[in-house]
Amino acid sequence: MNQNEMSIRFDARSVNEAFARVAVSAFVAELNPTLDEIADLKTAVSEAVTNAIIHGYSDPKQQVALSCRIEGEQIEIVVEDQGVGMADVKKAMEPFYTTRPELERSGMGFAFMEAFMDELEVTSEPGRGTRVVMRKRFGKQEG
Ligand code: ATP
Ligand code: MG
Repeated sequence: MNQNEMSIRFDARSVNEAFARVAVSAFVAELNPTLDEIADLKTAVSEAVTNAIIHGYSDPKQQVALSCRIEGEQIEIVVEDQGVGMADVKKAMEPFYTTRPELERSGMGFAFMEAFMDELEVTSEPGRGTRVVMRKRFGKQEG
């Protein structure tokens, strides 16, 4: 079975959201995804990385870890921070729930990750950080 893995770390700076999106899209190119599949993946990666940067960390020198694993036609993406964490993950994942309304956040990040990926798992611990695991299978439309 086709297997491939990569992992990168980058500073918790907003400019790196674009870097993360492009890195993941380039990595999955071997699966020949459609433009729609790429767009979905980029949205989900963007939301997870943005959360790590703006909610998880306050110091831009802290680092976000991003790893991807291709297994057959499936990609698994893990976005991790060792920031503030969340006490109630279930609540945080509710649509429109945000702790940063002053930043014009809409509370839809997790809802997008859920909508654009096949699977979403979030684990978090206050003071320790957050881990977001997302999975998607490509080439579904070919049957
Ligand atoms: P939007 O994504 O629409 O701009 P948002 O980031 O507030 O707004 P979600 O991405 O759904 O919405 O996240 C909901 C809430 O979960 C956040 O407001 C924040 O309190 C918490 N949260 C999400 N990710 C993290 C993280 N990595 N570390 C700490 N808290 C987080
Ligand atoms: Mg968000």
